[in-house]
Amino acid sequence: MWSERPLCGVGIPDGQLCLTFDDGPAHPATLEIARYLADRQIPATFFVVGDEAAKHRETLCALIDLGHTLGNHTRSHTRLTASTTTDNWAIEEVLAPERTLLEAGAQTPIPFRAPYGAWNRRLAYVFNNDRRLRESHSGPVGWDIDGEDHRCWREGRSPEDCARHYLAAIESRRSGIVLFHDRTADAEKRAGNRTGEMLRLLIPQLQARGYGFTGLPRPVSLQ
Ligand SMILES: [Zn+2]
Repeated sequence: MWSERPLCGVGIPDGQLCLTFDDGPAHPATLEIARYLADRQIPATFFVVGDEAAKHRETLCALIDLGHTLGNHTRSHTRLTASTTTDNWAIEEVLAPERTLLEAGAQTPIPFRAPYGAWNRRLAYVFNNDRRLRESHSGPVGWDIDGEDHRCWREGRSPEDCARHYLAAIESRRSGIVLFHDRTADAEKRAGNRTGEMLRLLIPQLQARGYGFTGLPRPVSLQ
């Protein structure tokens, strides 16, 4: 099912964080992040881009084996609300990665996150009226906390600086869905992505402050 507004972490208890990673998979960054988190029993959801997922199927399988969740972030990472698009194109953008995700072991309904968070009531209506999409996916999943890792790497900032930014954003809310990027969608800036390094600084600080980690909120998993 599809909701008119992106789902966020309203029901997540104080001190609990739900980690989500967008725009991957990247090799080897995604697997390194997934292993680092799994070694600490921290679950995460990876919203992958279909065109990249098809090139790294073994990474998707490994994410599932490590206990993480796979989500759909469209085939090509194009803004679904662009005025030039059609309903059928938008439906195909979401349906195209489905087979790759299911073959890797993703559970249905597959959580979905819209590129750039771009969403509207019309898309919810169109997707709910497509039987395949209504049954196979749920969402869209939004976020509550964004430390803007993509901006840090674009501006050439250090992982230490970026970790401080995330810590401040997390401390100001205390709970919710946190947005990270294990791969940078913008090809020109991709080499500068240091989210894996930054996590190795951030996670120990969060654990020292008593934060716990949880999967996606139940309304998303149950729909
Ligand atoms: Zn994205």
